[in-house]
Amino acid sequence: MTTTRFAPSPTGRLHVGNIRTALHNWMLAKKAGGQFILRIDDTDAARSREEYVEAIREDLAWLGLEPDREERQSRRLDAYEAAFEKLRGENRIYPAYETAQELEIKRKIQLGRGKPPIYDRAALALSEEERAAKEADGIAPHWRFKLDHDEAIEWEDGVRGRAKFDPTQLSDPVIRRADGSWLYMLPSTVDDINMGVTQVLRGEDHVSNTAVQIQMFTALQATPPAFAHEALLVGKEGKLSKRLGSLGCDALRARAIEPEAIVALLARLGTSQPVEPIADRRALVEGFDLSHFGRAPARFDEEELERINTAIVHQLDYAQVRGRLPAGMDEAGWHAVRPNVATVAEADVWWQLVTGPIAQPEFGDEDKAYLGEAAKALEWGEDPWGALTAKLKTQTERKGRALFLPLRQALTGMDHGPDMGELLPLIGKERARERLERAAA
Ligand code: GLU
Repeated sequence: MTTTRFAPSPTGRLHVGNIRTALHNWMLAKKAGGQFILRIDDTDAARSREEYVEAIREDLAWLGLEPDREERQSRRLDAYEAAFEKLRGENRIYPAYETAQELEIKRKIQLGRGKPPIYDRAALALSEEERAAKEADGIAPHWRFKLDHDEAIEWEDGVRGRAKFDPTQLSDPVIRRADGSWLYMLPSTVDDINMGVTQVLRGEDHVSNTAVQIQMFTALQATPPAFAHEALLVGKEGKLSKRLGSLGCDALRARAIEPEAIVALLARLGTSQPVEPIADRRALVEGFDLSHFGRAPARFDEEELERINTAIVHQLDYAQVRGRLPAGMDEAGWHAVRPNVATVAEADVWWQLVTGPIAQPEFGDEDKAYLGEAAKALEWGEDPWGALTAKLKTQTERKGRALFLPLRQALTGMDHGPDMGELLPLIGKERARERLERAAA
């Protein structure tokens, strides 16, 4: 069974960058009839917050990307311990004693000599006595995974094609801190094995992690999952990172952006398929394929999101929005205002014009007389607007703009807006007569 996972660290709100990763993993799973796991990467107790765990769940639910299963790394420490002991017993993990400062100096020296800053394995060369001396001095080790320099690293990347790494060009990664806490690399591998993950889809910033993790899978006698790394999401003017607050799920929600708009845009951004306001998720899932992804960064443009959002809003049925409409607004009300709103929240503005009170412009004498006539001509039937304007057209010399505009202004206080044929029945006979009479006075 195809199993994918989305593995956020609960250190902040979801934003368009990680929503995209979640969505693509969800789509891969749905398309294959498989399962989508939410894995909370909360091994960093100092930075993880329960409120963000809640927010991640809520945001995924709002986006319609509910996981089939949830896992938490903080509850799986025994599994990591077991893998650690196994690898240590096989000499694939070794203790290291350098301080962060010492490592930084080594890095600077290497860079100064024009060399890549690869860890020099000095700790691996320590003798038993030297290690014992360090520990007697009270220096607790951190732990590194020992890459196998003779085992070439290759995989068929779902987006990038054939990927190759020379293990001698990578540092042995630190997998565990001196205080016993875990870094990302080993727990993620153990989880992918134990949870039966078949497909790992993540950002290309993880490519070198994948190289390391492939050796971990092998060391743990597991077949690595299929890997795919998508090009990063960037803003119109470059990196998104500075703007992520305003592109957080909470901010988008506050701006009344529809989840379907976010999904429609992010499903296809950076692919060869055109971004379209597709509200039918099944259609998006059906057409989803990693082979459509390009290697160039995907450009996220907020104006494009707004355009897609408006087009999606114009497709929403009453049943999909009723809980979010102003009190009293019924299906006819939604249908009347829908073409005039960019967000569902804007329905409020037009609904206030229906329910009133409204501010009317000052009319000249001729218009006042005309509106007085309109108040008398008002009749209530199937199509009060059609009947009113037809009658006024024959009773007066007016036509076109002169016929329609003063009526719209008197009835809504606005020069433009939803179709009057749909709006007038919502305003109702009493309110309409009162507004026309007030304008005529
Ligand atoms: N917690 C990691 C991250 O957010 C997960 C990466 C992965 O998908 O393996 O970057």
